[in-house]
Parts: sequence; C-alpha cells; structure tokens
Amino acid sequence: MPEHAPPPLKPGATIGILGGGQLGRMLAQAAAKLGLHCHIFSPESDSCAFEVVRRSTIADYSDVAALDAFAADCDVITYEFENVPAQCAAFLKSRKPVLPDPAVLERTQDRLIEKDFVSALKIPTAPYAPVHSAAQLQAAVEAVGRPAVLKTRRLGYDGKGQATIARNGDPAAAWRTLREVPCILEGFVAFEREVSVVAARGRDGKVVCFDVTENDHRHHILHHSRAPARIPPALAKDAVRIAERIARAFDYVGVLAVEMFVVRRGGARTLLVNEIAPRVHNSGHWTLDGASVSQFEQHIRAVAGWPLAKPVRHGRVEMTNLIGEEVHEVERWLRQGGTSVHLYGKAEARPGRKMGHVTRVSPEGGRTPKPPRE
Ligand code: AMP
Repeated sequence: MPEHAPPPLKPGATIGILGGGQLGRMLAQAAAKLGLHCHIFSPESDSCAFEVVRRSTIADYSDVAALDAFAADCDVITYEFENVPAQCAAFLKSRKPVLPDPAVLERTQDRLIEKDFVSALKIPTAPYAPVHSAAQLQAAVEAVGRPAVLKTRRLGYDGKGQATIARNGDPAAAWRTLREVPCILEGFVAFEREVSVVAARGRDGKVVCFDVTENDHRHHILHHSRAPARIPPALAKDAVRIAERIARAFDYVGVLAVEMFVVRRGGARTLLVNEIAPRVHNSGHWTLDGASVSQFEQHIRAVAGWPLAKPVRHGRVEMTNLIGEEVHEVERWLRQGGTSVHLYGKAEARPGRKMGHVTRVSPEGGRTPKPPRE
C-alpha cells in the first residue's frame, strides 16, 4: 500500500493537469466521463487541452503565484508530460497531493538515471555508458561498441536529441550534433520488433496492465500500434511482469508505459527495456476504442483513489497516428467503416506534430480491415 495516500476524490472534485497537449485533452475527457473536473496548467496559449476543460491557466512552470492559485483550485494534481521542472512539482506537492510522486520525474527525466534504475532491478537494457567528456566518449565507444545510438540525457523525445553512430561512424561528430551536452551512449539494438506495456497502479498498490502492444516507428515517431502484439504468450507475460515490477519499484500511482525491444538471441526471444514514460502514452491510444476501459480513464481512476477496472479488449486493435500533413487525409478515414477518428484540435499541421489518430477494431481471428485507398 503506497504511503501518504490522500482520501479518494468525490464526484465533482477537480484534478489539476500539468501540460496541455493531446494527452491532457484525452485525460480531461476521461475525467468528464466520471463526473470529475479538470484544470489544465500550460505555458502555451494554444494548448489543445484548454477547450475541453472548465478552467485553465496559461503561465510558466516557474510562476509561483500562478502555481499557488492552480493548487488552491485542485484536489489532486497530475501531469501529462514528464519534463515538468522538479521545483514546480515540489512546490505543488507542498500544497496538494501530486500523483505520481514527483520523485518519479527525477528518475525518468534523465536517461542515465533511468537506465541505472532499471538495471538495479536486474531488468535487461541495451548496453550503455555515460558521455560527459571527449575522453568518456572514447571509453563509452570502447565499452558499448558500434553501431551505437548517442542520446542526450535530458529532454529527448520522438527521436529528438539522438544521433546514430554507424559501424565506422565518427562518435565525436555525433556528439557535436548534440551540442556536446551530457549524453548516454547505447549499443544499437537490432530488434525484431518494438513492444510496450501500459500499466496502471492504484493508490492501493494494485497493478493492472493492458495487453502488450506492438509499435512501428517512422522517423523515430510512433506511426502504428497493434494490440495484442504478435509475440509468444510467455514473452508477453514477461513484458507485463517487467512493467509491474517497475511500477512497484517506483511506488507509482497512475498510468505508465514501458517501451521494450524484442531481440532474438540464438533461438530464444528476450526483452530489453528502452524507455519508461511516467504518463499515459501514445501506444495506449487504442484503448479508447479497443477496450472496456481506456488508459486515460485508468489514470484518472488511479489518481482519484478510485478502483481500477480490469480491461477487456474488444478484439484485435490497430491505431494509426495522423502526423503533420496526414491530418488533411482525415476525410478518407471518416468515410471508412469500422474506423474511429480522433482529432486533437491543433491549428497548425507542423511536420512531425501529432494531430490525431484513428483506431480500427476487428474481431479476434477475423480479417483486419484494409486501410482506406489513397
Ligand atoms: P527513444 O526516444 O529512446 O524511445 O527512441 C526512439 C526510437 O529510436 C525507438 O523507438 C527505436 O525505434 C529507436 N531506438 C532508440 N534506441 C535505440 C537503440 N539503442 N537501438 C536501436 N534503435 C533504437
């Protein structure tokens, strides 16, 4: 049982959400379904979550007066992205319950600390080494080998802050492209596929996981997910156990996602943890239409101190992101039977920007519907 558990929220209570992107928007929609209100706090005036909530604050995460007023309006506070400054989370925690606990942010905002944390749990990752100096870069390349992936320790997402070093590539040049900030060098993993587990942990310590999801990326951005992942049942169980162990080790409350690589070693398949997202995750969007409870509702239930639901998947589910200009193809998807369309209400379709997603559910064992014609 996690410590410092506040009493469960009553219907009509207000959940504060730090961050105003599509994850905040879908969290707020799930909260509304349960009769709870949300107050979004975001520095960006065009945040797409604002239009679905009763109250919003546009202010910087360092604006103490704005944070104070926000905290006064909320019964519990959570976040939809992991790069909330530590001081901001600590300040809010001094006013109201913040879930998951901000200590989780300190461990997941830095790729080196995160990998050390996972390794300490004896959960395998790609080989890795820290890079803070030219000498350390040399040592890291010797330890990890090439090809390798150099990643900034902080503020990397969707492939930003990453540089691949080929077998005969120049590590120093790769580090220069990342402006020589503190990095982590990871061995390049020739994975068979990428999977993720979206897990929810309640205030009572109970963990409930969604089925393992298989993910395809394009240009380092999630393009397509399918559930269940096409992996043997025993490996799927291993993946779920890994996510459960991580959630427990964090004393986590809410939804988190664990991204993993499936690798073949000899005849056997094993899992390497790539990344932990301490929030609802793009690879769990299929749960909105493909399961009896969504990842967004599970997160809201968890931070509200309400019981988690056991998710029942409605069939085989496919989720495709609409990225940048792809949002202009939405009419094709709208005409496609059996397709559920979600648009996030963002005004500008910038390259790489997540604008919406579509989900298709087909009966277990049945044929997967074809995507719409070009
Ligand atoms: P990340 O930001 O760490 O989630 O990386 C984004 C994507 O880059 C992953 O989903 C993988 O497709 C790829 N990637 C990241 N790290 C590695 C690695 N060590 N080896 C091979 N591919 C990687």
